[in-house]
Amino acid sequence: MDLKQYVTTVEDWPKPGISFKDITTIMDNGEAYKYATDQIVEYAKEVQADIIVGPEARGFIIGCPVAYALGVGFAPVRKEGKLPREVIRAEYGLEYGKDVLTMHKDAVKPGQKVLIVDDLLATGGTIEATIKLVEELGGIVVGCAFLIELTYLEGRNKLDKYDICTLMQY
Ligand code: 5GP
Repeated sequence: MDLKQYVTTVEDWPKPGISFKDITTIMDNGEAYKYATDQIVEYAKEVQADIIVGPEARGFIIGCPVAYALGVGFAPVRKEGKLPREVIRAEYGLEYGKDVLTMHKDAVKPGQKVLIVDDLLATGGTIEATIKLVEELGGIVVGCAFLIELTYLEGRNKLDKYDICTLMQY
């Protein structure tokens, strides 16, 4: 299946000059959503993940069905102030200023093999912060999977120690 035909490019959103890849047109098509999920499930089996970790909010959309299909757990990575119990935090740079991602302190157990999943790899900042959180908890990052990679932003360069799987490249 050519998944790219289900991605909608929205020019100048959320800001002028940004060419946004909208994945909701993959999700609202049952066949395309299942196909994309199945590809990542296969990758998760290859790397023998025993838990899936995904950053809000689109990492949940991709990561949760993968976890369900494998019968493994899913641990959410959220913006500060969203998780109810004790968290660890990682700051990461945005174009202007910085943001914070958090995880529950017991979300990943030491030695667990973690697959990190998100919809899209751009500069790699989000995934770099997510890796930091997982490793602080003692998890082993066995792979990172994305539907889309924006290769011109070179996010992969931040992740050269890790195994990366991307279904579509632009
Ligand atoms: P990065 O941290 O790699 O620069 O940005 C990736 C994060 O921003 C991901 O969590 C992703 O959901 C979001 N993101 C950035 N650009 C896009 C885009 O064009 N489309 C979608 N769907 N998400 C994007």
